Amino acid sequence: MKKDFINIQGIKYPLISVNTIVIGSGAAALNAAVSLFDRGQQDIVIVTDNWGGGTSNNAGSDKQTYYKLSLAGKIPDSAYDMAKDLYNGKCMHGDIALCEAQNSARAFFHLVELGVPFPHDEYGAFAGYKTDHDPAGRGTSAGPLTSSMMFDALAMDVEKKGIAVFDQHEVVSLLKNDSIHNRHAIGAIAIDRNSIESENRGIVVFNAVNTVLATGGPGGIYKTSVYPVSQSGSHGLAFRIGAVGQNLTESQFGLASIKFRWNVSGSYQQVIPRYVSTDPDGNNEREFLNEFFPDINILSNAIFLKGYQWPFDPRKTANFGSSLIDILVYRETVWNNRRVFLDYARNPDSTEISKKFDLENLNKEAYEYLKRSDALQGKPIDRLKAMNQPAIDLYKRNGIDLENEYLEIDVCAQHNNGGLKGNIWWESNIKNLFPVGEVNGSHGVYRPGGASLNSGQTGSLRAAMFIAENYSEHPPGEENFSAMAGSQVKELVREAGSAISDVGNDYIISEHLEKLQRRMSEHGGVIRNPESIDRAINEAIEQKKNIDSIRIKSAGELPSLFKLKDLWMTHLLYLEAVSEYMKKGGQSRGSFIVLDSSGKKPCISLEDHWKFKMNEENSYTDTRILEIALNNYDLSIKKEWVDVRPVPDDELWFEKTWKEFREGKTIK
Ligand SMILES: Cc1cc2nc3c(=O)[nH]c(=O)nc-3n(C[C@H](O)[C@H](O)[C@H](O)COP(=O)(O)OP(=O)(O)OC[C@H]3O[C@@H](n4cnc5c(N)ncnc54)[C@H](O)[C@@H]3O)c2cc1C
Repeated sequence: MKKDFINIQGIKYPLISVNTIVIGSGAAALNAAVSLFDRGQQDIVIVTDNWGGGTSNNAGSDKQTYYKLSLAGKIPDSAYDMAKDLYNGKCMHGDIALCEAQNSARAFFHLVELGVPFPHDEYGAFAGYKTDHDPAGRGTSAGPLTSSMMFDALAMDVEKKGIAVFDQHEVVSLLKNDSIHNRHAIGAIAIDRNSIESENRGIVVFNAVNTVLATGGPGGIYKTSVYPVSQSGSHGLAFRIGAVGQNLTESQFGLASIKFRWNVSGSYQQVIPRYVSTDPDGNNEREFLNEFFPDINILSNAIFLKGYQWPFDPRKTANFGSSLIDILVYRETVWNNRRVFLDYARNPDSTEISKKFDLENLNKEAYEYLKRSDALQGKPIDRLKAMNQPAIDLYKRNGIDLENEYLEIDVCAQHNNGGLKGNIWWESNIKNLFPVGEVNGSHGVYRPGGASLNSGQTGSLRAAMFIAENYSEHPPGEENFSAMAGSQVKELVREAGSAISDVGNDYIISEHLEKLQRRMSEHGGVIRNPESIDRAINEAIEQKKNIDSIRIKSAGELPSLFKLKDLWMTHLLYLEAVSEYMKKGGQSRGSFIVLDSSGKKPCISLEDHWKFKMNEENSYTDTRILEIALNNYDLSIKKEWVDVRPVPDDELWFEKTWKEFREGKTIK
């Protein structure tokens, strides 16, 4: 790493020249950094807005799952089978699926060696269990905080290796250069929050051969979200330089607590809490689920099932399926403007419906599960104590006493299956830009639970391998870099300077943010409506004019202003993708419903506007991937449907593989 300065109109801006900058400090970012280091590329820096922030270190669930190749027990497994299963989730390219499957064991054991306590037996078998969309028992877990343990282990390795970390640096722009054939990423501009009041407003310029973008999922575009507050995402950085997004329509939504953001999956549902709703002030309580279920046993079974059928899935709404509950919660919070809570102190009340609540009336599967867990106590809280005391402790640590208070919930955005497009080495269409982790939208419509963590580790490993092999040169000298990036840096300096004014209003940023988040949750969330989506897009475009004219009083608000612009850009592309999908006839799938008056209601007692249809087998939208990007010149949006590439079926012949490997033709 070389430290210097760039001089613009007499003001000095720090210039850091380095082979690779890794943006972000989640599990994917840290793995990219240590994997580069291990492969000999040690001229790297991590640039992060908040060391310890992001999803990996701050999210979890009842039993947070890591999906990996099955390596134990009697169930046979192969990388090819795993790739097929990932691919069968629809709209995932087969070659990417194969890379994630083929590198799964390698990435997993890397974490094991770094000390992540994945459980194994006395013979060394890493036992697995079945997670959603998983036919082979490939799930494993180190407990509710698996991804945070991954963060800890990787962070320790970063420290041990002495990799430089630029903390409190919010990256606000990526730098690009156009050569004859390609556009390249050549670094980034960040604002250092610690020196924001100085003459240069904390602006730091990074001159890098490679940019690993590991900025996580787009949590900041949603109002109802279980992404940690510290995770807003920065896809707009890449969109602005022409990176292509794919499958932006595909996210996972599900029930989560909102005061402290946490998934209410697993035992939080299996102990069958009571669902109640109130008016906005907490009055007029009622058990809103009762009127939609024929009796308390069917309702209780649906609640129980929600435990391991956590993400909303439109296929599981009919016949009083577990996902009908998500719809009813959404109907209550969004359409009826009420609040919904889980009550662990009492069982669901049966006065309004035929039978009394009694655990013995549950179906066999649910009853046996509770019995085998010694959890047949009278109240949900006592069953939860018996089954999973840490689940209660976790809320206690975060200021919520499940024994004595209601837990407020909503249907929240949790994970984005789509994101930026990458090739089999996780390089985007912009050369030298490698989106890894959740910002890379490698997944398709349905993904096995835990596949996100596997993808983050395998993808960042692949990116590191490619960089170390092909892009290991020194960054350009200051003069060359300035010729390529100087005008981009000047433009950002101008933008920052002109945003600050004595008549500025710092609060306006949060007002605009709230507006776009509400729009996204209403139109691009779990329920989508072809009739209102284009109105939402027009409103978004209108909002942009107001955002462009925002003036703030203090330089301290600059990172928030740039973030607002980034999230605005991100949400616009996501809404455009939702609109395009519906225009091509796309119906309900994955984790969302497209309302359609020619469809069917999932439950007879629901209003008619809840009708919807699932996509037909081999429909246009299920056999292609929607790619979306900004046009270079006029910032209009281009959309393209590309065929899904199959899983490669090449014969794996050792002699050929060895020859190509020896000749350096493999990592190309
Ligand atoms: C409640 C919940 C439960 C989940 N459970 C599971 C599960 O069981 N299994 C599974 O596989 N996945 C699960 N996921 C998803 C998984 O946790 C995430 O996909 C994964 O942790 C993302 O890791 P990442 O490294 O890509 O991003 P993150 O860990 O989110 O890190 C992103 C980093 O980028 C930084 N950053 C962002 N923008 C900028 C910027 N402009 N400048 C500088 N830094 C920036 C952030 O501060 C952060 O450090 C869950 C997610 C949630 C929310």
